[in-house]
Amino acid sequence: MSIKLGCIADDFTGATDLANNLVRAGMRTVQTIGIPGAPLRDDADAVVVALKTRTLPATDAVAQSLAALRWLQQQGAEQIYFKYCSTFDSTPQGNIGPVTDALMTQLGTAFTIATPAFPDNKRTVFKGYLFAGDVLLNESGMQHHPLTPMTDPNLVRVLSAQTPRKVGLIDYSVVAAGSEAIRARIQALQAEGIEIAIVDAVSNDDLLALGPALRGMALVTAGSGVAIGLPGNWGLAPASAAGQTRADGLQAVVAGSCSTATNGQVAAFIESGRPAYALDPMRIAAGEDVVEQVLAWAEPRMQDGPVLVYSTAQPDQVKQAQGALGAAQAGAMIEDAIARIAVGLVQLGVRQLIVAGGETSGAVVQALGLEQIAIGEQIDPGVPWCAGYSPVAKTDVSIALKSGNFGTPDFFIKAFG
Ligand code: ADP
Repeated sequence: MSIKLGCIADDFTGATDLANNLVRAGMRTVQTIGIPGAPLRDDADAVVVALKTRTLPATDAVAQSLAALRWLQQQGAEQIYFKYCSTFDSTPQGNIGPVTDALMTQLGTAFTIATPAFPDNKRTVFKGYLFAGDVLLNESGMQHHPLTPMTDPNLVRVLSAQTPRKVGLIDYSVVAAGSEAIRARIQALQAEGIEIAIVDAVSNDDLLALGPALRGMALVTAGSGVAIGLPGNWGLAPASAAGQTRADGLQAVVAGSCSTATNGQVAAFIESGRPAYALDPMRIAAGEDVVEQVLAWAEPRMQDGPVLVYSTAQPDQVKQAQGALGAAQAGAMIEDAIARIAVGLVQLGVRQLIVAGGETSGAVVQALGLEQIAIGEQIDPGVPWCAGYSPVAKTDVSIALKSGNFGTPDFFIKAFG
Protein backbone atom coordinates (compact mmCIF):
# COMPACT_ATOMS: atom_id res chain seq x y z
CA MET A 1 0.00 0.00 0.00
CA SER A 2 1.27 3.48 -0.80
CA ILE A 3 -0.38 6.55 0.66
CA LYS A 4 -0.80 9.85 -1.09
CA LEU A 5 -0.97 12.33 1.78
CA GLY A 6 0.94 11.83 5.02
CA CYS A 7 -0.19 14.06 7.87
CA ILE A 8 1.36 14.94 11.20
CA ALA A 9 -1.01 16.60 13.68
CA ASP A 10 0.21 18.37 16.81
CA ASP A 11 -2.79 17.33 18.89
CA PHE A 12 -5.49 14.69 18.85
CA THR A 13 -8.61 16.81 18.31
CA GLY A 14 -6.78 18.49 15.45
CA ALA A 15 -5.99 15.10 13.96
CA THR A 16 -9.66 14.05 13.86
CA ASP A 17 -10.60 17.48 12.55
CA LEU A 18 -8.16 17.00 9.65
CA ALA A 19 -9.14 13.37 9.05
CA ASN A 20 -12.80 14.45 8.98
CA ASN A 21 -12.12 17.09 6.31
CA LEU A 22 -10.08 14.65 4.22
CA VAL A 23 -12.79 11.98 4.39
CA ARG A 24 -15.44 14.48 3.36
CA ALA A 25 -13.23 15.70 0.51
CA GLY A 26 -12.95 12.14 -0.83
CA MET A 27 -9.86 10.55 0.73
CA ARG A 28 -9.93 7.22 2.53
CA THR A 29 -8.23 8.27 5.74
CA VAL A 30 -6.84 6.46 8.76
CA GLN A 31 -5.95 8.28 11.95
CA THR A 32 -3.30 6.71 14.13
CA ILE A 33 -2.45 7.61 17.69
CA GLY A 34 1.27 8.15 17.49
CA ILE A 35 3.29 6.06 15.06
CA PRO A 36 1.44 2.77 14.80
CA GLY A 37 3.13 -0.40 15.96
CA ALA A 38 0.70 -2.59 14.01
CA PRO A 39 -0.14 -2.53 10.29
CA LEU A 40 -2.86 -0.07 9.26
CA ARG A 41 -6.41 -1.35 9.58
CA ASP A 42 -7.62 -0.12 6.20
CA ASP A 43 -6.40 0.78 2.76
CA ALA A 44 -5.90 4.51 2.88
CA ASP A 45 -5.21 7.46 0.64
CA ALA A 46 -4.18 9.52 3.66
CA VAL A 47 -2.84 8.76 7.12
CA VAL A 48 -3.03 11.27 9.95
CA VAL A 49 -0.51 10.56 12.69
CA ALA A 50 -1.82 12.21 15.85
CA LEU A 51 0.90 13.50 18.14
CA LYS A 52 0.60 15.49 21.35
CA THR A 53 3.42 17.90 20.67
CA ARG A 54 1.80 21.33 20.85
CA THR A 55 3.09 22.27 24.27
CA LEU A 56 6.15 20.01 24.57
CA PRO A 57 9.65 21.50 24.68
CA ALA A 58 10.51 22.28 21.04
CA THR A 59 13.28 19.69 20.81
CA ASP A 60 10.87 16.91 21.83
CA ALA A 61 8.18 18.16 19.43
CA VAL A 62 10.72 18.20 16.60
CA ALA A 63 12.04 14.71 17.39
CA GLN A 64 8.54 13.21 17.45
CA SER A 65 7.50 15.01 14.27
CA LEU A 66 10.60 13.81 12.42
CA ALA A 67 9.96 10.25 13.55
CA ALA A 68 6.41 10.53 12.20
CA LEU A 69 7.80 11.95 8.94
CA ARG A 70 10.16 9.01 8.53
CA TRP A 71 7.32 6.55 9.09
CA LEU A 72 5.06 8.36 6.60
CA GLN A 73 7.86 8.40 4.02
CA GLN A 74 8.23 4.63 4.49
CA GLN A 75 4.51 4.35 3.63
CA GLY A 76 5.23 6.18 0.37
CA ALA A 77 3.59 9.51 1.26
CA GLU A 78 3.82 11.83 -1.73
CA GLN A 79 3.05 15.01 0.20
CA ILE A 80 3.41 15.85 3.91
CA TYR A 81 0.83 17.96 5.80
CA PHE A 82 1.77 19.41 9.19
CA LYS A 83 -1.52 20.20 10.95
CA TYR A 84 -1.85 22.70 13.80
CA CYS A 85 -4.76 24.49 15.39
CA SER A 86 -7.03 26.88 13.52
CA THR A 87 -6.21 29.40 16.22
CA PHE A 88 -2.46 28.88 15.58
CA ASP A 89 -1.98 27.76 19.20
CA SER A 90 1.66 28.01 20.09
CA THR A 91 4.00 29.30 22.74
CA PRO A 92 6.34 32.21 21.94
CA GLN A 93 9.05 29.64 21.10
CA GLY A 94 6.88 27.34 19.01
CA ASN A 95 6.24 24.67 18.27
CA ILE A 96 4.83 25.57 14.85
CA GLY A 97 8.05 27.29 13.73
CA PRO A 98 10.61 24.72 14.96
CA VAL A 99 8.62 21.75 13.65
CA THR A 100 8.10 23.42 10.26
CA ASP A 101 11.84 24.20 10.07
CA ALA A 102 12.82 20.63 10.86
CA LEU A 103 10.35 19.11 8.40
CA MET A 104 11.55 21.47 5.63
CA THR A 105 15.17 20.60 6.30
CA GLN A 106 14.51 16.88 6.38
CA LEU A 107 12.44 17.05 3.19
CA GLY A 108 15.06 19.24 1.51
CA THR A 109 12.42 21.77 0.51
CA ALA A 110 12.93 25.51 0.29
CA PHE A 111 9.34 26.70 0.51
CA THR A 112 6.09 25.97 2.28
CA ILE A 113 2.87 27.73 3.21
CA ALA A 114 1.23 28.30 6.58
CA THR A 115 -2.43 29.06 7.09
CA PRO A 116 -4.82 28.12 9.88
CA ALA A 117 -7.84 29.36 7.86
CA PHE A 118 -10.94 27.20 8.39
CA PRO A 119 -13.94 29.24 7.20
CA ASP A 120 -16.47 26.49 8.10
CA ASN A 121 -15.45 27.20 11.69
CA LYS A 122 -15.19 30.97 11.23
CA ARG A 123 -11.39 31.06 11.23
CA THR A 124 -10.33 33.42 8.48
CA VAL A 125 -7.03 35.07 7.58
CA PHE A 126 -6.93 38.51 5.96
CA LYS A 127 -3.74 40.52 5.36
CA GLY A 128 -2.04 37.94 7.53
CA TYR A 129 -4.32 38.69 10.50
CA LEU A 130 -6.23 35.76 12.00
CA PHE A 131 -9.89 36.26 12.89
CA ALA A 132 -11.94 33.92 15.09
CA GLY A 133 -15.54 34.70 14.29
CA ASP A 134 -15.98 38.46 13.99
CA VAL A 135 -12.98 39.43 16.09
CA LEU A 136 -9.22 39.25 15.91
CA LEU A 137 -7.58 36.22 17.53
CA ASN A 138 -6.34 38.21 20.54
CA GLU A 139 -9.88 39.40 21.32
CA SER A 140 -11.51 35.99 20.91
CA GLY A 141 -10.82 34.55 24.35
CA MET A 142 -7.64 32.86 23.06
CA GLN A 143 -5.64 35.53 24.88
CA HIS A 144 -6.67 33.69 28.10
CA HIS A 145 -5.78 30.14 27.00
CA PRO A 146 -4.28 28.24 29.97
CA LEU A 147 -1.29 26.88 28.00
CA THR A 148 -1.00 28.79 24.72
CA PRO A 149 -2.35 32.32 25.19
CA MET A 150 -2.48 34.08 21.80
CA THR A 151 -1.97 37.81 22.16
CA ASP A 152 -0.89 38.77 18.62
CA PRO A 153 -3.23 38.19 15.66
CA ASN A 154 -0.56 38.97 13.02
CA LEU A 155 0.61 35.56 11.87
CA VAL A 156 3.62 36.82 9.92
CA ARG A 157 4.89 38.32 13.19
CA VAL A 158 3.94 35.30 15.30
CA LEU A 159 5.64 32.82 12.99
CA SER A 160 8.69 35.05 12.38
CA ALA A 161 9.36 34.94 16.13
CA GLN A 162 9.47 31.13 16.00
CA THR A 163 11.77 30.52 13.03
CA PRO A 164 15.01 31.89 11.57
CA ARG A 165 13.44 31.49 8.09
CA LYS A 166 11.99 34.50 6.29
CA VAL A 167 8.20 34.60 6.54
CA GLY A 168 6.06 36.36 3.91
CA LEU A 169 2.43 36.71 2.91
CA ILE A 170 0.26 35.61 0.00
CA ASP A 171 -2.44 38.17 0.51
CA TYR A 172 -6.08 38.18 -0.39
CA SER A 173 -5.75 40.05 -3.69
CA VAL A 174 -3.61 37.17 -4.98
CA VAL A 175 -5.74 34.37 -3.52
CA ALA A 176 -8.90 35.91 -5.00
CA ALA A 177 -7.24 35.87 -8.43
CA GLY A 178 -7.01 32.06 -8.34
CA SER A 179 -4.60 29.14 -8.50
CA GLU A 180 -2.35 30.45 -11.26
CA ALA A 181 -1.90 33.80 -9.50
CA ILE A 182 -1.03 31.96 -6.27
CA ARG A 183 1.56 29.84 -8.08
CA ALA A 184 3.11 32.95 -9.62
CA ARG A 185 3.21 34.65 -6.23
CA ILE A 186 4.92 31.63 -4.68
CA GLN A 187 7.66 31.88 -7.31
CA ALA A 188 8.05 35.61 -6.75
CA LEU A 189 8.27 35.16 -2.98
CA GLN A 190 10.90 32.46 -3.36
CA ALA A 191 12.94 34.81 -5.54
CA GLU A 192 12.80 37.30 -2.64
CA GLY A 193 14.17 34.70 -0.25
CA ILE A 194 10.87 33.98 1.50
CA GLU A 195 10.69 30.39 2.73
CA ILE A 196 7.32 30.28 4.48
CA ALA A 197 4.24 32.22 3.36
CA ILE A 198 1.16 32.87 5.44
CA VAL A 199 -1.83 32.57 3.08
CA ASP A 200 -5.00 34.65 3.36
CA ALA A 201 -8.31 32.81 3.00
CA VAL A 202 -11.80 33.92 4.00
CA SER A 203 -13.97 31.30 2.29
CA ASN A 204 -13.94 27.69 1.17
CA ASP A 205 -13.64 28.97 -2.41
CA ASP A 206 -10.29 30.50 -1.44
CA LEU A 207 -9.11 27.16 -0.05
CA LEU A 208 -10.32 25.36 -3.17
CA ALA A 209 -8.30 27.83 -5.27
CA LEU A 210 -5.26 27.27 -3.05
CA GLY A 211 -5.39 23.47 -3.40
CA PRO A 212 -4.20 23.18 -7.03
CA ALA A 213 -1.41 25.69 -6.34
CA LEU A 214 -0.04 23.27 -3.74
CA ARG A 215 0.19 20.30 -6.10
CA GLY A 216 3.64 18.77 -5.79
CA MET A 217 4.67 20.93 -2.80
CA ALA A 218 6.63 18.58 -0.55
CA LEU A 219 5.30 20.10 2.67
CA VAL A 220 2.08 21.93 3.47
CA THR A 221 1.53 23.39 6.95
CA ALA A 222 -1.98 24.46 7.92
CA GLY A 223 -5.04 24.02 10.07
CA SER A 224 -7.54 21.51 8.74
CA GLY A 225 -9.16 23.88 6.23
CA VAL A 226 -6.56 23.58 3.48
CA ALA A 227 -7.32 19.85 3.34
CA ILE A 228 -10.56 20.44 1.44
CA GLY A 229 -8.60 21.56 -1.63
CA LEU A 230 -5.97 18.80 -1.77
CA PRO A 231 -7.74 15.52 -2.71
CA GLY A 232 -8.61 17.01 -6.11
CA ASN A 233 -4.88 17.00 -6.91
CA TRP A 234 -5.14 13.20 -7.03
CA GLY A 235 -8.43 13.24 -8.94
CA LEU A 236 -10.49 12.46 -5.82
CA ALA A 237 -13.91 14.05 -5.41
CA PRO A 238 -15.94 14.87 -2.27
CA ALA A 239 -17.68 11.91 -0.69
CA SER A 240 -20.52 11.68 1.79
CA ALA A 241 -19.43 10.99 5.37
CA ALA A 242 -18.16 7.53 6.23
CA GLY A 243 -20.84 5.06 7.25
CA GLN A 244 -19.63 4.32 10.77
CA THR A 245 -22.41 3.52 13.23
CA ARG A 246 -22.09 4.54 16.86
CA ALA A 247 -21.35 1.91 19.51
CA ASP A 248 -24.25 0.98 21.82
CA GLY A 249 -23.84 1.88 25.47
CA LEU A 250 -23.86 4.57 28.10
CA GLN A 251 -23.06 8.19 27.27
CA ALA A 252 -20.76 10.69 28.95
CA VAL A 253 -18.84 13.93 28.39
CA VAL A 254 -15.51 14.82 29.99
CA ALA A 255 -14.33 18.41 29.54
CA GLY A 256 -10.88 19.78 30.37
CA SER A 257 -11.07 22.69 27.95
CA CYS A 258 -11.45 26.20 29.38
CA SER A 259 -12.09 27.80 26.00
CA THR A 260 -14.99 30.18 25.49
CA ALA A 261 -17.06 27.72 23.43
CA THR A 262 -16.60 24.90 25.95
CA ASN A 263 -17.61 27.19 28.81
CA GLY A 264 -20.83 27.90 26.91
CA GLN A 265 -21.44 24.20 26.20
CA VAL A 266 -20.94 23.26 29.85
CA ALA A 267 -23.38 26.01 30.89
CA ALA A 268 -25.97 24.81 28.34
CA PHE A 269 -25.66 21.20 29.54
CA ILE A 270 -26.17 22.25 33.17
CA GLU A 271 -29.05 24.55 32.24
CA SER A 272 -30.80 21.67 30.50
CA GLY A 273 -31.02 19.96 33.91
CA ARG A 274 -28.70 17.08 33.07
CA PRO A 275 -26.23 15.82 35.71
CA ALA A 276 -22.86 17.59 35.80
CA TYR A 277 -19.89 17.24 38.18
CA ALA A 278 -17.39 20.09 38.59
CA LEU A 279 -13.81 18.97 39.23
CA ASP A 280 -11.97 21.20 41.66
CA PRO A 281 -8.21 21.38 40.89
CA MET A 282 -7.43 22.21 44.52
CA ARG A 283 -9.10 19.00 45.71
CA ILE A 284 -7.11 16.94 43.21
CA ALA A 285 -3.92 18.69 44.33
CA ALA A 286 -4.77 17.97 47.96
CA GLY A 287 -4.65 14.27 47.14
CA GLU A 288 -8.37 13.48 47.41
CA ASP A 289 -9.45 10.43 45.42
CA VAL A 290 -11.49 12.51 43.05
CA VAL A 291 -11.62 9.77 40.43
CA GLU A 292 -13.39 7.38 42.76
CA GLN A 293 -15.77 10.10 43.93
CA VAL A 294 -16.70 11.01 40.36
CA LEU A 295 -17.29 7.42 39.30
CA ALA A 296 -19.50 6.74 42.35
CA TRP A 297 -21.47 9.89 41.46
CA ALA A 298 -21.72 9.02 37.75
CA GLU A 299 -22.63 5.33 37.87
CA PRO A 300 -26.29 5.59 38.93
CA ARG A 301 -26.91 8.78 36.93
CA MET A 302 -25.55 7.49 33.62
CA GLN A 303 -28.28 4.87 33.42
CA ASP A 304 -30.76 7.67 32.59
CA GLY A 305 -28.73 9.57 30.00
CA PRO A 306 -25.48 11.44 29.45
CA VAL A 307 -23.48 12.88 32.36
CA LEU A 308 -20.83 15.59 32.25
CA VAL A 309 -17.61 15.78 34.27
CA TYR A 310 -15.75 19.05 33.80
CA SER A 311 -12.82 21.11 35.03
CA THR A 312 -13.86 23.83 32.58
CA ALA A 313 -13.62 27.20 34.28
CA GLN A 314 -13.60 30.92 33.56
CA PRO A 315 -10.23 32.71 33.06
CA ASP A 316 -10.12 34.16 36.60
CA GLN A 317 -10.64 30.71 38.17
CA VAL A 318 -8.00 29.22 35.86
CA LYS A 319 -5.55 31.94 36.91
CA GLN A 320 -6.27 31.19 40.54
CA ALA A 321 -5.53 27.48 40.15
CA GLN A 322 -2.43 28.23 38.09
CA GLY A 323 -1.22 30.71 40.71
CA ALA A 324 -1.49 28.06 43.40
CA LEU A 325 -0.19 25.08 41.43
CA GLY A 326 1.74 26.38 38.42
CA ALA A 327 0.19 26.44 34.93
CA ALA A 328 1.88 23.34 33.50
CA GLN A 329 1.47 21.36 36.71
CA ALA A 330 -2.22 22.24 37.00
CA GLY A 331 -2.76 21.30 33.35
CA ALA A 332 -0.97 17.96 33.62
CA MET A 333 -2.65 17.07 36.91
CA ILE A 334 -6.13 17.78 35.56
CA GLU A 335 -5.45 15.96 32.30
CA ASP A 336 -4.32 12.92 34.29
CA ALA A 337 -7.42 12.99 36.50
CA ILE A 338 -9.78 13.34 33.53
CA ALA A 339 -8.01 10.51 31.69
CA ARG A 340 -8.44 8.20 34.67
CA ILE A 341 -12.08 9.24 34.97
CA ALA A 342 -12.62 8.45 31.27
CA VAL A 343 -11.11 4.99 31.71
CA GLY A 344 -13.36 4.41 34.74
CA LEU A 345 -16.43 5.55 32.81
CA VAL A 346 -15.66 3.17 29.94
CA GLN A 347 -15.14 0.35 32.44
CA LEU A 348 -18.62 1.17 33.77
CA GLY A 349 -20.12 0.77 30.28
CA VAL A 350 -19.74 4.13 28.56
CA ARG A 351 -19.46 3.49 24.81
CA GLN A 352 -20.21 7.00 23.55
CA LEU A 353 -17.75 9.47 25.01
CA ILE A 354 -17.21 13.13 24.16
CA VAL A 355 -13.91 14.69 25.21
CA ALA A 356 -13.59 18.48 25.14
CA GLY A 357 -10.11 19.92 24.83
CA GLY A 358 -7.13 19.14 22.62
CA GLU A 359 -4.60 18.34 25.33
CA THR A 360 -7.32 16.66 27.33
CA SER A 361 -8.24 14.46 24.35
CA GLY A 362 -4.62 13.41 24.00
CA ALA A 363 -4.52 12.27 27.59
CA VAL A 364 -7.86 10.42 27.33
CA VAL A 365 -7.12 8.65 24.05
CA GLN A 366 -3.75 7.48 25.35
CA ALA A 367 -5.27 6.23 28.60
CA LEU A 368 -7.97 4.32 26.70
CA GLY A 369 -5.25 2.68 24.58
CA LEU A 370 -6.79 3.65 21.23
CA GLU A 371 -4.28 3.14 18.41
CA GLN A 372 -6.26 3.65 15.22
CA ILE A 373 -9.40 5.70 14.76
CA ALA A 374 -12.01 5.54 12.01
CA ILE A 375 -13.96 8.67 11.13
CA GLY A 376 -17.75 8.61 11.24
CA GLU A 377 -20.61 11.11 11.06
CA GLN A 378 -19.85 14.80 11.58
CA ILE A 379 -21.50 16.45 14.60
CA ASP A 380 -20.29 19.98 13.84
CA PRO A 381 -17.55 21.26 11.52
CA GLY A 382 -14.25 19.83 12.72
CA VAL A 383 -15.80 17.29 15.09
CA PRO A 384 -16.87 13.87 13.88
CA TRP A 385 -17.88 10.82 15.89
CA CYS A 386 -14.95 8.41 15.67
CA ALA A 387 -14.55 4.76 16.56
CA GLY A 388 -11.58 2.83 17.83
CA TYR A 389 -10.79 -0.40 19.63
CA SER A 390 -10.06 0.16 23.28
CA PRO A 391 -8.17 -2.60 25.09
CA VAL A 392 -9.61 -1.12 28.29
CA ALA A 393 -13.17 -1.83 27.11
CA LYS A 394 -12.16 -4.84 24.96
CA THR A 395 -14.47 -3.47 22.29
CA ASP A 396 -14.91 -0.54 19.95
CA VAL A 397 -15.74 2.73 21.66
CA SER A 398 -17.28 5.74 19.92
CA ILE A 399 -15.48 8.89 20.83
CA ALA A 400 -15.76 12.54 19.74
CA LEU A 401 -12.72 14.72 20.32
CA LYS A 402 -13.83 18.33 20.46
CA SER A 403 -11.32 21.09 20.12
CA GLY A 404 -11.94 23.76 22.76
CA ASN A 405 -13.51 26.40 20.57
CA PHE A 406 -15.49 24.15 18.23
CA GLY A 407 -19.16 23.29 18.35
CA THR A 408 -22.48 25.04 18.92
CA PRO A 409 -23.65 25.77 22.50
CA ASP A 410 -25.87 22.64 22.55
CA PHE A 411 -23.03 20.40 21.30
CA PHE A 412 -22.93 18.12 24.38
CA ILE A 413 -26.65 17.44 24.02
CA LYS A 414 -27.18 17.22 20.28
CA ALA A 415 -24.15 14.98 19.75
CA PHE A 416 -26.02 12.08 21.37
CA GLY A 417 -29.17 12.65 19.30
P1 ADP B 1 -8.52 23.51 24.45
O1 ADP B 1 -8.86 22.57 23.33
O2 ADP B 1 -9.67 24.38 24.88
O3 ADP B 1 -7.26 24.28 24.17
P2 ADP B 1 -6.98 21.74 26.15
O4 ADP B 1 -7.44 20.47 26.75
O5 ADP B 1 -6.06 21.64 24.96
O6 ADP B 1 -8.26 22.60 25.75
O7 ADP B 1 -6.22 22.66 27.20
C1 ADP B 1 -6.76 23.03 28.41
C2 ADP B 1 -5.68 22.88 29.48
O8 ADP B 1 -6.15 23.54 30.66
C3 ADP B 1 -5.43 21.43 29.86
O9 ADP B 1 -4.06 21.22 30.11
C4 ADP B 1 -6.23 21.28 31.15
O10 ADP B 1 -5.77 20.26 32.00
C5 ADP B 1 -6.07 22.66 31.76
N1 ADP B 1 -7.17 22.98 32.70
C6 ADP B 1 -8.42 22.49 32.66
N2 ADP B 1 -9.18 22.98 33.63
C7 ADP B 1 -8.39 23.82 34.33
C8 ADP B 1 -8.58 24.65 35.49
N3 ADP B 1 -9.78 24.69 36.10
N4 ADP B 1 -7.54 25.36 35.95
C9 ADP B 1 -6.33 25.31 35.32
N5 ADP B 1 -6.08 24.56 34.23
C10 ADP B 1 -7.08 23.81 33.73
